[in-house]
Amino acid sequence: MDLKIFIDGKYILTEKIFNTENEDFMVPFSLLSKLFGANNVFEGNSCELKLKRWGIEVIMKAGSKKALVNGKQKLMPIEPLAIEGSIMVPLRFVCEQIGAVVDWDKKTGTIIINTPENKDSILLKVYIKDEDRLVIMDLEEYVKGAAAAEIPLNFHEEAVRAITIALRTFAVKRIRKLGGYGCRSNGEADICTDQKCCQGWISKAQLQKIWQNDFNYNWSIIQKACSDTKGLIITFNNNPIDAVYHLTCGGSTENSESIWGNKVSYLRKVGCTYCSHSPYYRSQRDLPLSELENKLGISLKDGPLNDKLISGLIEKIERTPGSRIKKIVVGEYEFEGRTLLELFNLPSTRFWWDIKQLKFLITGSGHGVGLCKYGADGMARSGKTVDDILTHYYTGVKIERLEDYSFKKPLKGKVITIDQGYGGNLETDTSGILEEANRKICGYLSDMLKEEEAIVIQTREKQEGYISLSERVRIANEADSDLFISIHQNTHKDKNVSGTETFYYPGDRAGKRLAECIQESLLKFLGRKNRGVKEANFYVLRETNMASVLVEVVFITNLEEACILEDESFLKKTAEGILSGILKYYRV
Ligand SMILES: [Zn+2]
Ligand SMILES: [Zn+2]
Repeated sequence: MDLKIFIDGKYILTEKIFNTENEDFMVPFSLLSKLFGANNVFEGNSCELKLKRWGIEVIMKAGSKKALVNGKQKLMPIEPLAIEGSIMVPLRFVCEQIGAVVDWDKKTGTIIINTPENKDSILLKVYIKDEDRLVIMDLEEYVKGAAAAEIPLNFHEEAVRAITIALRTFAVKRIRKLGGYGCRSNGEADICTDQKCCQGWISKAQLQKIWQNDFNYNWSIIQKACSDTKGLIITFNNNPIDAVYHLTCGGSTENSESIWGNKVSYLRKVGCTYCSHSPYYRSQRDLPLSELENKLGISLKDGPLNDKLISGLIEKIERTPGSRIKKIVVGEYEFEGRTLLELFNLPSTRFWWDIKQLKFLITGSGHGVGLCKYGADGMARSGKTVDDILTHYYTGVKIERLEDYSFKKPLKGKVITIDQGYGGNLETDTSGILEEANRKICGYLSDMLKEEEAIVIQTREKQEGYISLSERVRIANEADSDLFISIHQNTHKDKNVSGTETFYYPGDRAGKRLAECIQESLLKFLGRKNRGVKEANFYVLRETNMASVLVEVVFITNLEEACILEDESFLKKTAEGILSGILKYYRV
């Protein structure tokens, strides 16, 4: 079988590997020293296979499932066997004994091993568009190829460092395993190498061909920038930002909503007087009328090209605050700035025209949101630091170490109020099942949230029995909560009605998204009928100042669902489902 081994960020030559049904990966015993730098000996007389690494000794014997690990007997899933003249041992078993973590990526046929020396390495799946293949890469290795593709190497080294941090952040934001949204055009990949979709990337082998004699010098610049900034990313509210960038803004960057429609707090319009040395700062493009007609697919009035015709040709110009064309009417046809940019292959939508010659005068290159690369270079040349540069183009962000930022714990420090529904004497709850179920779900959820380092407030933790709705709201508002989660069980006069539903207050966009995340994961965890995410004018949803939802887990009036409310594991799963929904809300 043609398998690859990817160990601590490096590929090891494909060797003879036999996979078993349980993915034990039988490899030649001799390969282990190559993989782990281990000291391994084959004792011919006793047929013993000895291996020692990271203070752990593993002794196996050909033909026997019994292994000794630091003197203790352990049973192997499969015994070492002789295949085609080599003694093969189960790689997964050996790795697990010496403290290495094994992962198997079926799609790429790669065994991924992280040894105790490199447990924190972050891997990503990259779709290499030119070669039409998916590969696994270590983040830091990936960043080098991205830097080579995205940064002009005549830039000041401080700018190269700043942009490298942006490129790393851009990639981290997309890693699915860390909750990222992945590449939009390749469903398997975290990121692709297409600049139009994700960001550019060039392999080392390709760079050697392109740079030839300059390779060593150029590569040293890249390596230095990467190692200087190793593990640094840009964060906003403890999350990695979507670190978008462009080549040259031409005088001012843009608000994200002007270009893409959605408002992002850290992607604000800022002035940039630093990119005037860019070759794209001002450019022009001549355009014959026929080309205009062809590309736009329109037909303009006949007649010779004269001042009068052209001056009336382009009208109703709508610009963004950063002066980029949003909409424009040519002839009698309306076009978006983006469409013109693509059709005429213009470097940016920040353009004007000379009406006499039908000549586009363009400033800048790229969409204009986020970091201006030439601006970063200009800032570095005027003595600004990496921090100055990144906080100029990304509003309100921080530069943090990947290993200690709380992306892995997105709930760290978040204040979450859990509201246990009802309380007191509910007609339908004569046995007290409902009260008990809600109390337990809230208890489990509270413990799980605390595990994620959230600050948990329970509206009914101290008081027994019913507390008023206004009191619940007061507790949540006074704690300045980030989220309010009210947990209920449903009732219906028709005993056949069953399922899960989640409510939010009309117009509460954050509440709606939270409700969608929680509903989706509750369905996954509980497998009850989907009654959907709904709007409701409930007091606790309306009067709370934060994103708030009300979860109706199941129907107490349905016999089957009333029964499962007595099942401890169901209640725990409910809490897990809600937690997973909350995590998703913060990650996406
Ligand atoms: Zn992509
Ligand atoms: Zn600029």
